[in-house]
Amino acid sequence: MSRIRGSNTKPELALRRSLHAKGYRFRTHVRGLPGTPDVVFTRRRAAVFVHGCFWHRHGCRKTYTPKSRRDFWEEKFAANVERDKRVREALADEGWRVFVAWQCEIETDDSLLDRLVAFLGPPRML
Ligand SMILES: [Zn+2]
Repeated sequence: MSRIRGSNTKPELALRRSLHAKGYRFRTHVRGLPGTPDVVFTRRRAAVFVHGCFWHRHGCRKTYTPKSRRDFWEEKFAANVERDKRVREALADEGWRVFVAWQCEIETDDSLLDRLVAFLGPPRML
């Protein structure tokens, strides 16, 4: 599976640190769920994926296509996008809410954390 390329990537760790600092508690890389979501909030029935913009085709500046072996890349990207869609649908079918945090947002978008809090609901008081 290609999230960014493996788990525990730098953007993912950064996001997990931010969420933890806000008081959220969660599980990571939950294999029992479709797509092995990166960050899982069991009681909130919420799953968060950290997606690399290149592999998952965010559409931002990082979403370029290598010039050589274009067919190979396009096929690979299409398969990734299709799998992401299937995973989101499978989770929704099981009653999970899904949030995708893009690599570039974690790196540069200050509103991401606010949007995540809105999605998750307030953290429990410590
Ligand atoms: Zn992006």
